[in-house]
Amino acid sequence: MAGVSFPYDAPVSQTLFDRASLVTPGGVNSPVRAFRAVGGTPRFMVSGSGPYLTDADGREYVDLVCSWGPMILGHSHPEVIAAVQEAVARGTSFGTPGEGEVALAEEIVARVEPVEQVRLVSSGTEATMSAIRLARGFTGRAKVVKFAGCYHGHVDALLAAAGSGVATFGLPDTPGVTGAQAGDTIVLPYNDLDAVREAFAAHPGEIACVITEASPGNMGVVPPLDGFNAGLKELCAAGGALYISDEVMTGFRTSKAGWFGVDGVRPDLMTFGKVMGGGFPAAAFGGRADVMTHLAPVGPVYQAGTLSGNPVATAAGLAQLRLLDDAAYATVDAVSAEIRGLVSEALAKEGVAHTVQAASNMFSVFFTDRPVRNYEDAKKQEAFRFTAFFHSLLSQGVYLPPSAFESWFVSTAHDTQAVERIAAALPAAARAASEATA
Ligand code: PLP
Repeated sequence: MAGVSFPYDAPVSQTLFDRASLVTPGGVNSPVRAFRAVGGTPRFMVSGSGPYLTDADGREYVDLVCSWGPMILGHSHPEVIAAVQEAVARGTSFGTPGEGEVALAEEIVARVEPVEQVRLVSSGTEATMSAIRLARGFTGRAKVVKFAGCYHGHVDALLAAAGSGVATFGLPDTPGVTGAQAGDTIVLPYNDLDAVREAFAAHPGEIACVITEASPGNMGVVPPLDGFNAGLKELCAAGGALYISDEVMTGFRTSKAGWFGVDGVRPDLMTFGKVMGGGFPAAAFGGRADVMTHLAPVGPVYQAGTLSGNPVATAAGLAQLRLLDDAAYATVDAVSAEIRGLVSEALAKEGVAHTVQAASNMFSVFFTDRPVRNYEDAKKQEAFRFTAFFHSLLSQGVYLPPSAFESWFVSTAHDTQAVERIAAALPAAARAASEATA
């Protein structure tokens, strides 16, 4: 972290972090939160309202993380909070079916045309893990194709060359994943259809599925090239494999119907999380009814969860989805475009080489002047400039994801005042990025 100073001006967060580090590995419950890639003290947040977060030291930040995507209406949206309070008052978990989970499933099926049936789970990891198991059970095949830089949660078989924290920390692979668990995973470069074609040719009748982020956001935002997703779908169909589109990040964020609503390529199975939970642990996988009916209790592929379809989580998710109409997406898209423009302008003024990439309202800034089409490209950026940029913004009350390999997220609550605060902080941050040394 040469050339970057991180003023330890967060004494209460520091004390909490010291306490946390004694009882929790690295002081956090999810690695990227620890600020390891950027250094300094992770801020412990105590409350969120609209586009703002307040930390334990009483400092307010414009939030450009939005809980890594879910908070698309901003924090503490009154209608979501009211729905949660109403649900909580009736009890927190029954371990039986309930109407809320039916309503949430109906909402997902209504919005995302390829989803004929859906099963609710509690995390995106669970959703992708279950979708892979189902694809293997349905096809009777073992091999799974994934792409370098795509993150699908911490599923053993999918951690090879993953994005997000695995990219942030440059982990080659993860101890604890056995050769048997990873041995059926084929990792290919993203946006390279020839590589997929060759994999199908090399493993005839062996590939159960290809799983891809619908539009990747875990190596920074790297949208699929024109025809890439459609090509995957065709190759899967020709090779007898299922095409699984992981929409945990893009689902209900990049449009009413997620990335499917943008590119219209029809997956066999899809996975969801983040936005659909309204800030609670709710996720899902779904797709073709003839595939989904292979799940227990109708079919032989086992999958279950004590808290699946939890009444409080489903109430939050449903309230959030019902507020996400065309006008809401237009608002988020517009504010995203405005912030992208401001960031680019500030960096250009300081002569900092950069590329801003977007997928609808998801975006990230790469510190390179070349387009980023895959994980290898993403790794070539000058990440040390991001570190300086990040800390300058943090010290001025703007909270970015603490890694150069993550998407930035905005919400309908990012109003003129929030955007003005970002604009005011950008010149100094761009200067810090330009002066940074490796
Ligand atoms: N899939 C994608 C595309 C994700 O971005 C993530 C999390 O960031 C996951 C799966 C895993 O979701 P979770 O963190 O809820 O397990």
